Amino acid sequence: MTVHVDYLVLGLGGMGSSALYHLASRGLNVLGIEQFGVAHDRGSSHGETRIIRKAYFEHPNYIPLLQRAYELWRELEQESGQELFDPCGLMVAGPPEGEVIQGVHLASRLYDVVVEMVPAAEATARFPGFHIPDGFEATYEPEAGFLHVEDCVRTHIECAERQGAQVYFNEKIQSVTVSDQVIEVQTEAQHFTASKLIVTAGAWSSACLSALNLPLEVVRKVLFWSPVKQPVYNLDRGKGGFFFDMPYGEFYGFPSLDGVTVKLAEHTGGELVADPSLLNRELLESDVPALSRFISEVMPGLKPDPVRHAACMYTRTPDGHFIVDAHPQNQGVVYGAGFSGHGFKFASVIGEILADLATKGHTRHPIEFLSANRFEKL
Ligand SMILES: Cc1cc2nc3c(=O)[nH]c(=O)nc-3n(C[C@H](O)[C@H](O)[C@H](O)COP(=O)(O)OP(=O)(O)OC[C@H]3O[C@@H](n4cnc5c(N)ncnc54)[C@H](O)[C@@H]3O)c2cc1C
Repeated sequence: MTVHVDYLVLGLGGMGSSALYHLASRGLNVLGIEQFGVAHDRGSSHGETRIIRKAYFEHPNYIPLLQRAYELWRELEQESGQELFDPCGLMVAGPPEGEVIQGVHLASRLYDVVVEMVPAAEATARFPGFHIPDGFEATYEPEAGFLHVEDCVRTHIECAERQGAQVYFNEKIQSVTVSDQVIEVQTEAQHFTASKLIVTAGAWSSACLSALNLPLEVVRKVLFWSPVKQPVYNLDRGKGGFFFDMPYGEFYGFPSLDGVTVKLAEHTGGELVADPSLLNRELLESDVPALSRFISEVMPGLKPDPVRHAACMYTRTPDGHFIVDAHPQNQGVVYGAGFSGHGFKFASVIGEILADLATKGHTRHPIEFLSANRFEKL
C-alpha cells in the first residue's frame, strides 16, 4: 500500500529535527523518518555539546544566519522550557596573521560582534589553565557558548510532535526516486509518495541523493574526555569554551561540565569513511598523539590520555561551506548537506530555511553562497 504525505523529512538528526519542527509549526502535514532512535549517537549530532559563536572566522556571510539561529534557539527554549544554550563565552587563540584570528577580527568589524582582544601579556592570567603559546593573540567572545546537542535534537522533535508531526524511528529509507512528476520513498516497511521531500541525511547524503553527485567526503572524528588535574576549567566557576589555531592543527573544547573531565577534539584532520554505517567507533592508537601534544603544550591542568571518547562524522564539501538547495529535477525536493563539521549551531535556522524552500520555493535568508551550483566548475 502506498501512503501519501504532504511533507516528508528524511533523517531526524540536527537539521532534520529542526525542519520537522518548522514545518509542523506552520500547521503542515509532515512525517519524519529516521533510521536510528531519537538523538542517537550514530551520526553527527551527539557527544553532549556543540560550540556556538558569532565571530565567524569561516566566512562573514554566515553571520546573518547566526543572528537568526540565536533567536530561534532562544525561542525553542521558551516554548519547551528546556535549557539548550549556555552562553559561557569562548576564547580563540592563534597567530595574529592566521586565518582564524584574522577572521574573528573581520566578523567583529563587519557585524559589530562583541569580541574582546586580550593582550598576550594578560592572556595566561585571564585564562588560568591555559598556556597561550608565544606570539599568539587571544580573543574572547562573551556571547558565544555551547548548545546541549542531544537536547536540541530531542526538543525539536518533541515540539514538532506536539504540533502534529508524525515520526517513524528505527526505519531506514532504502530508496528515494525523484522525477519531475513524482517523489517516492521506500522504507523497509512502507512505500510513500510525497508532495515535498526534505533530505537531511548527514553522512548518508550522497547515498540518498546519488543522482546529484554531491562533492561530499565523510571523515571520522573523535571526541576526547580528558581528566582534570586542577579545577581550573569548571563551568560552575565561570569558565568558557576554547579554540586554538596551532601550527599542527585546530583544537577546541568546552568547560568541564562534571568537574572531573574536559571534552576536547581536533577540528582539522580525520580519516575518510567509506561507509558511514560501518564507522569504526573504537579508540585507535593514531587518535591520541595530536590531542595529547595539544594538551601537554596548552592545557597543563589536564591529563593527556582520555578516559572516554566518542566517534562522530564530519561531512565535508571542498570549500568547507554547507550546501542548501533544491533538486534540479524537482524543486519540491530540498536538501541540506555537507555541514563540514561546523553546522550544528545553525540547525535552528537551517530548519527554518528548508521549511521556507519546501513550502514557498524561496527564503528571505541570504543563502546564495550555499547553493550547489558553485561546484559546477570543479
Ligand atoms: C565531533 C564533532 C564535533 C562537532 N562540533 C561542532 C561544534 O562545536 N559546533 C557546530 O556548530 N557544529 C559542530 N559539528 C558539526 C555538526 O554537529 C554537524 O554539522 C551537524 O550535526 C550535522 O547535522 P545533520 O543533520 O547534517 O547530520 P545528522 O545529525 O547526522 O543527521 C542525519 C540523520 O539522517 C539519518 N539518515 C541518514 N540516512 C537515512 C536513511 N536512509 N533513512 C533514515 N534516516 C537516515 C541519520 O541516521 C541521521 O540521524 C561537530 C560535528 C562532529 C562530528
